Formats: sequence, structure tokens, C-alpha cells
Amino acid sequence: MQLQGKVAILTGAGSGIGETAAKLFADQGAHVVIVDWNETQAVRVADEINRKQPPNGRALAVKTDVSSEQQVKRLVQQTITAFGSIDILVNNAAVVLPKELEDISEDEWNRTVDVNLKSVFLMIKHCIPELRKHRGTIVNLASLNGLMGQRQNPVYSATKGAVIAMTKALALDYAQDGVRVNCLCPAGVSTPLLEEWISRQPDPAETVQALKDMHPLGRSATPEEVAKAVLYLASDASAFITGVALPVDGGASLGY
Ligand code: ADP
Repeated sequence: MQLQGKVAILTGAGSGIGETAAKLFADQGAHVVIVDWNETQAVRVADEINRKQPPNGRALAVKTDVSSEQQVKRLVQQTITAFGSIDILVNNAAVVLPKELEDISEDEWNRTVDVNLKSVFLMIKHCIPELRKHRGTIVNLASLNGLMGQRQNPVYSATKGAVIAMTKALALDYAQDGVRVNCLCPAGVSTPLLEEWISRQPDPAETVQALKDMHPLGRSATPEEVAKAVLYLASDASAFITGVALPVDGGASLGY
């Protein structure tokens, strides 16, 4: 029970990495707030967690568009009303925009940057007063795309590179408060986001093989493997680690 008595907010927890991390956190005793703009998915995940008995943590689903400051403020208030504090923030909600730059409209750019980057700013801005009180932790989901280039994914890559840079800057700002800020850089992870990206590629079968080839360990990660790394950075197991961008990539960033 690594997170007994902790309260964690996880964005984009209605599916994929966020869902898996939320379930793992609750297994470890944390009360979890399942944040997603897809209410059906958020409620499903919360219900699945709440079917388990204590000492498993409790879950609350809160429908939120994390790119809206008004909705983020309301989410933070609802969390404090329900669970009394915030100890852990996991910024995971994201969208992809797998297109070449000339084909991207101004609206698509704005939407992607708002969901992937502005949301991290808004969530931290409104959670930091509570996180300071409890010497809490922040884990941002960046991506290998923030460390290395990927063809036909320039805006997603730009937002993830910015999340890495902001993680390091904020780790410096909040170290004096005992608040640690870290991020993870997964490569291929078998989630709906990856499946959607694969299906939009010109040759999906070839893309699946390329994904296998790019990981020296020979496969994409499972959401559980990434969720365990989120737990590590969120828990006291990583008490002296702040400002890192941890690859969880089966060796994909090592070279070729
Ligand atoms: P991954 O698990 O790799 O992060 P998913 O697509 O499975 O990829 O999960 C991303 C989650 O983020 C989805 O459940 C999606 O509904 C959610 N999401 C995307 N944009 C927003 C947003 N603006 N506000 C809240 N949740 C969002």
C-alpha cells in the first residue's frame, strides 16, 4: 500500500495509461479522481474501482475538459470537497494530430496545444496550493516524441517537448516547497491513442511492424508497465528524484 491515505487526480483517466494508473493507485490505497471529458468512460472506471472493498481507495469521476480554466477550477473544488486534499497530480490527458505541418489548420494547432500543454499549466496552477500543503508530487505524461523526432507528428511532438521543458522549470520552482515534478517519456504503448494513430497511417500493418522494430525489447509497452513507472514517480519510492524525463521505452531512445 504505497499510496495509503493519499488523494490523486489523474487526467485522461477514462482510458489507456490514465485508467490503468488510476486503478493501480487505488489498489495502493489512494483515493482517485478520474478526470476525463468522456463522462461515460470516467464513470465506468470509477465504478470499477468502487466495486472493490477498502483498503482499496475510493474513486470519483469528474467530467472535465482540462483545457478550460473554469472547468479545472471546478474540478479542484470538487476534489477537495470529496476527499479533503490533493497529494498527487498526474497530467495524462492528450490528443494526437498525425498530419504534416502544411495540412494542419490554425484551429487544430490551437486545440492540440490547449489539450496537451495548456491543460498542464492550468492543472498545476490550480492544484499547487494544495500540493504545497502536503509536499505532494506531480507526474506529467510527456512522450519519447518530446525527446526525439517522429515523422508526421509535429504538433504532438512540440507539445510533449514543451511538457518536458516545463517539468524541469517547475521542478526548480517547487523544490523549495518539497513538491517534486517529474515526467515520463513512453514510446509505443498499446492504448486507444496509439491504435487511432496506427489506423490513420498509410499502411497500418507496416506501422505495427515498424513499432516492433523501433523498440530494442521487441514490442510496445503495456499500459501496466507505464502505470508502474507513474506510481514510482508519484510515490515515496522516488523521494529524491525531481525534474527528470524518464524514458519508458524498451530502449527505443538508445539509438539504432
Ligand atoms: P493514452 O492512454 O496513451 O494517454 P488514450 O487516448 O487512451 O491515450 O487516453 C487519453 C485520454 O485523455 C482519453 O480518455 C481522452 O478522452 C482524454 N482526453 C483527451 N482530451 C481531453 C480533455 N481536453 N479533457 C479531458 N480529457 C481528455
